[in-house]
Amino acid sequence: MPAEDLMERVTNLCKRRGFVFPSAEIHGGFRSTYDYGPLGVLMLRNVKEAWWRSMVQLREEVVGLDAAILSSPRIWEASGHLANFTDPLVDCRSCHERWRADQIGDTCPNCGSTDLTEARAFNLLFKTYAGPVEDEGAVAYLRPETAQGMFVNFANVLQTTRKRPPFGIAQMGKSFRNEITPGNFVFRTREFEQMELEYFVPPDQSQQWYEYWCAERMTWFTDLGMAKDRLRLRPHDADELSHYSTGTSDIEFAFPWGWGELEGIANRTDFDLLAHAAASGERLDYFDPATGERYVPHVIEPAVGATRAMMAFLIAAYDTDEVDGEARTVLRLHPRLAPYSVAVLPLSRKDTLSPVAHRVLSLLQPLFMCDYDDTQSIGRRYRRQDEVGTPYCVTVDFDSLDDDAVTIRDRDTTEQARVPIIDLIAELGSRLSH
Ligand code: ATP
Repeated sequence: MPAEDLMERVTNLCKRRGFVFPSAEIHGGFRSTYDYGPLGVLMLRNVKEAWWRSMVQLREEVVGLDAAILSSPRIWEASGHLANFTDPLVDCRSCHERWRADQIGDTCPNCGSTDLTEARAFNLLFKTYAGPVEDEGAVAYLRPETAQGMFVNFANVLQTTRKRPPFGIAQMGKSFRNEITPGNFVFRTREFEQMELEYFVPPDQSQQWYEYWCAERMTWFTDLGMAKDRLRLRPHDADELSHYSTGTSDIEFAFPWGWGELEGIANRTDFDLLAHAAASGERLDYFDPATGERYVPHVIEPAVGATRAMMAFLIAAYDTDEVDGEARTVLRLHPRLAPYSVAVLPLSRKDTLSPVAHRVLSLLQPLFMCDYDDTQSIGRRYRRQDEVGTPYCVTVDFDSLDDDAVTIRDRDTTEQARVPIIDLIAELGSRLSH
């Protein structure tokens, strides 16, 4: 399928089926902001849950954090964001559009004019005021990344958890950047969600942990069903590296318009802890009782956008095929990511089937995210579930009244199997955990 078609189809599906709506649409929209609808909110939670499970739940050495979004200017002064978190901004003198100089050539992508201003540094931080007085003393910032929350809480976490390097602090949540040119749907927005890990290691182990996290994070995407050939790990060139980083690689995804960053994995050395220690006067280091040595850990940071990753998973899952001579659209999402795990579908709306179907629904709801649909023909309902990626439909028919069994239909193969209601939880559980 041509790239533009794929992008258009995915964005249309997102709108039509309630994944992502343009924000404030009834008021004319609001510049590249989006609202996550009934299905989008489920899928985004699943993306974050899959990350949290892999990064926190399944690891003994990683703990979580949820730091404030509204943050002190001192954090951003110490981190260098107030001075350096900038993109080069150019204006087109002809049509007055504004662009990021590093993303365009020497011509305006809007009107083709070459009459552009000199690039000037534009700071991406969102500034606001905390409290009723709008003066300099009340300035606060919406965080542009979750990472600094981990650095400023380094000592708190160390003291309260008694972890020792190598250990990590993980956080996911909203970040805000006043992007010059948001676009490509939710790929680049001014408000977005990130999932970041700061992994603190003894300095002499930083290279090995950097390599470990590059491999580990690639595996996370492929374990969630993303095809290997749509992903690549791209090490930064020396001139691309931040001044403090000794190594950074991006995990890139083949978006319909080309390769784009999904995740950055950076060896940030001791830059952040030293910067916050110097600015605060606090000691941000680790005393190793075994060796009697005190040192500032180095940091490996895998940082991924949750909203951007969700979009990549949607694009990768989008497929069309034919079932019984009829074209269908199917999202081949990994069961862990699909908005609904199961749809319960009574074959007809007749009153006789509704009690059994609701009994099945109540049985499944505590364990699986379920949809219930008794509208339209069964074939159309299967198509609707395929289109939003529901891995299994459970159909209650008139035989169910006699045999207390239901039919499980598989999204990918469309195969159907009869299962006694008493075995349904075990059967779905085993299928969904694969
Ligand atoms: P870019 O160079 O594309 O502006 P970045 O390298 O500054 O991005 P990081 O600071 O490394 O991005 O952020 C980590 C991750 O957060 C990115 O890989 C991306 O998935 C996500 N992200 C960053 N900015 C945005 C945004 N404006 N909208 C959506 N996701 C974003």
